[in-house]
Amino acid sequence: MVNLMVEYKVEIDRMLCIACGACYSSDPVHFEPDQTRKSTVVGGETDENISSGVFEDEEIEDVKEAQDSCPASAINVTEI
Ligand code: SF4
Repeated sequence: MVNLMVEYKVEIDRMLCIACGACYSSDPVHFEPDQTRKSTVVGGETDENISSGVFEDEEIEDVKEAQDSCPASAINVTEI
């Protein structure tokens, strides 16, 4: 049986994030706002500058769509 699970890392450069809401509106599974409406990675590690997390699900296309829709190019997605 083929394992279709993908493991990937999502990183948000919170210094670039303009808190537009596009990512967490389109993909609330992986992105959520903090109290300033800047984006964070759900279940990830977040500090002032970076939020990052690793996922093992099949929803990387949703994350990539959010990445493409980010007007600040603040989201990076890397398959690992
Ligand atoms: S789409 Fe980009 S700029 Fe908008 S909230 Fe998400 S990370 Fe921030």
